[in-house]
Amino acid sequence: MPSSDPEVLRRAAQRYRERHPEKVRDYLDSPAGKLVQLTGNWRYNGVVTDDWISLYITYMAHTHCMDCDRELTKDKVRTSTTKCLDHDHATGEVRAIVCHACNVRRGA
Ligand SMILES: [Zn+2]
Repeated sequence: MPSSDPEVLRRAAQRYRERHPEKVRDYLDSPAGKLVQLTGNWRYNGVVTDDWISLYITYMAHTHCMDCDRELTKDKVRTSTTKCLDHDHATGEVRAIVCHACNVRRGA
């Protein structure tokens, strides 16, 4: 019977990732993997929602900044037009999908 000890499960998952890096890469490149990564980052950064999937779909569908209407970009290195999910840092409530420049201007 498999263990339910969180530490045992964590080590087993780590071993799996080390033995099967190609499967991990394929998963992270899949639609489900991208959703899990992005919503995981939002959760880590304090975003609060009761529907991560709807938030993800809405975020992905937005092509232009809700403040300045510039076309949003997806960049490995952040630029002024990189798409951002603006949220209230005190409550975690999502406020808008904006470019990085507008997100900085809006503040916390
Ligand atoms: Zn903007």
